[in-house]
Amino acid sequence: MGHVFISRAVPGRALDLLTAAGHSVETWSGDLPPPPETLGAKLAAAHAAFTTVVDFVSTGMLAAAPRLKIVANMAVGYDNVDPVAAAGMGIWVTNTPGVLAETTADMAWALLMAAARNVVAGDRDTRAGGWQTWSPTGFLGVDVFGATLGIVGLGEIGEAVARRATGFKMRVLYHSRTHKPALEADLGLEHRPLSELLAESDFVSLHTPLTAETRHLMSTGQFAAMKPSAILVNTSRGGVVDQDALIEALRSGAIAGAALDVTTPEPLPLDSPLYGFPNVVITPHIASASLATRSRMAEMAAENIIAVLKGTPPIHPVNHPANPRQT
Ligand code: NAP
Repeated sequence: MGHVFISRAVPGRALDLLTAAGHSVETWSGDLPPPPETLGAKLAAAHAAFTTVVDFVSTGMLAAAPRLKIVANMAVGYDNVDPVAAAGMGIWVTNTPGVLAETTADMAWALLMAAARNVVAGDRDTRAGGWQTWSPTGFLGVDVFGATLGIVGLGEIGEAVARRATGFKMRVLYHSRTHKPALEADLGLEHRPLSELLAESDFVSLHTPLTAETRHLMSTGQFAAMKPSAILVNTSRGGVVDQDALIEALRSGAIAGAALDVTTPEPLPLDSPLYGFPNVVITPHIASASLATRSRMAEMAAENIIAVLKGTPPIHPVNHPANPRQT
């Protein structure tokens, strides 16, 4: 039996699953994540770490955790830990793929609609007493129906977004590392090099993981390639966008607006120029935040831990240690 450190209170049955499997569980009770030194100390005493995207598990922390067998991330992204370094130390890293795709796609869609149709700006104005009359020229947005959507990163979430777009009779372009002929045929998608996708799209929605390759995938040149009427939607990771370049693109009118669930850093400091743009919608990294999905994500993380502490491979590994730790 092992000692499991959970870095935050989580919904659903995850805790019950771990205790029913005979493990001792320590849950960090703070509203904020444990500070790095605390996280390091907790990992040093644990057999399994149950982490979230805001727990940055450094290679040094892993090296100082002699009993640690698994870092089970309650997320599909795992840019908060180095899986290669962990594998070198015999430590599994796992994620929660698939289960959050539809929920995250719903949020990407909500952000796209909100930015296109001034949902947040209209709400803000109404609450401030600005609603004087029906106005022929007030809050004029852009149509989503029939527009062109560019999806960057056609994985589980990108595909779920594409399926939603078909109901809006949109033309859907995608850019991914690999062509997806089956999805092209099924959903009528068209593959494009990134520069062409950006030039043709009315909405650009980002769905890649954050990797060395995708960091600042969207920068000055990419914003210049977009239509001045286009809107950027980002539910991937803040680092996929060069945020200074985005701010400049919004200032100069290179693009018309943005809807961001993820930023750099998180939380976005209150003095960020992004808050000053009426055509920018910002949410606090909540794209997977439905009760059902977050509960299932937590359970999947627990199931990965239970498998590894039993001496079997995890269900959703993102690395493959040649010599997994046994003791
Ligand atoms: P996924 O199924 O692994 O899909 C990611 C896709 O990105 C893959 O299809 C891959 O393309 C593509 N890709 C990778 N590198 C690329 C590159 N350099 N250029 C173009 N495309 C590239 O992952 P997912 O479940 O859709 O999740 C995607 C990301 O969304 C996660 O990694 C996470 O960071 C983020 N996310 C955020 C939230 C939130 O709360 N805001 C929630 C869930 C997920 P190929 O298929 O061609 O290899």
